[in-house]
Amino acid sequence: MKGRCLCGAVEFAISGVLPKLYQCHCSLCRRVSGSSSNAAMIVPMAHFAWQQGQDVIRQYRTETGFKSHFCSQCGSPVPNMTRDNESYWIPAGLLDDPADTQVAMHVYTASKASWDGVLEETSPPSYEAMPPDDEFMTLLQPDKNLIERKK
Ligand SMILES: [Zn+2]
Ligand SMILES: [Zn+2]
Repeated sequence: MKGRCLCGAVEFAISGVLPKLYQCHCSLCRRVSGSSSNAAMIVPMAHFAWQQGQDVIRQYRTETGFKSHFCSQCGSPVPNMTRDNESYWIPAGLLDDPADTQVAMHVYTASKASWDGVLEETSPPSYEAMPPDDEFMTLLQPDKNLIERKK
């Protein structure tokens, strides 16, 4: 699976079965995405490779540590390493379409914008803030049958 920014200067590739996505409606994700929420996936370091454009990536970090890496030519948010340095956070909108994955949960729905559409109460599940770490990571696991198909 490949992904790229709006201008195409930044390109990356993900190998293996894609994990599921989470969609975050917090105020930081709204500002950094310019939209209702940020849809993203977390990919283990070993499954991620830059193809080009790392030199045009700039970064911004808030006082609280929330970070944004973006293409200095077009402004698209781009992947960045997670705090534990073991995986990459990937903005899902950069992925080529169709991508074999789906939204597993909505988080920070308690702080969603007043104009943000009503979220389904059933599936995918919504959380007012963040679910506990282990629950979060479990929900992001790819479907077992997807993994079988790739074997
Ligand atoms: Zn760009
Ligand atoms: Zn957020």
